[in-house]
Amino acid sequence: MPDDCTHLGTIVKVTPSAKGCEECLKIGAQWVHLRLCRTCGHVGCCDSSPNRHATKHFRHTGHPIIEGYDPPEGWGYCYIDDVAFDLTGNTTPQLGPIPRYI
Ligand SMILES: [Zn+2]
Ligand SMILES: [Zn+2]
Ligand SMILES: [Zn+2]
Repeated sequence: MPDDCTHLGTIVKVTPSAKGCEECLKIGAQWVHLRLCRTCGHVGCCDSSPNRHATKHFRHTGHPIIEGYDPPEGWGYCYIDDVAFDLTGNTTPQLGPIPRYI
């Protein structure tokens, strides 16, 4: 665990809000990878995706920690400190098959 992130204590067990990026599913958009918010369970898309909903979610809510989530990849990332860290053993189980558009 990195010393330079003070938000690791905010990580909680969450229930994913959707099987894919919540906003992309609503507007029929595509994503590349998924990111799961470890504060509220929001599922958004990564910065390689056209709509970058995970980053937008952080800007709107200030929730700092996301998990790589397609499937659960065992790592997390803090937007505020810009550090990645190991989440092995603390990942979130997938809801089911994730819809794939790409
Ligand atoms: Zn942090
Ligand atoms: Zn999205
Ligand atoms: Zn959130």
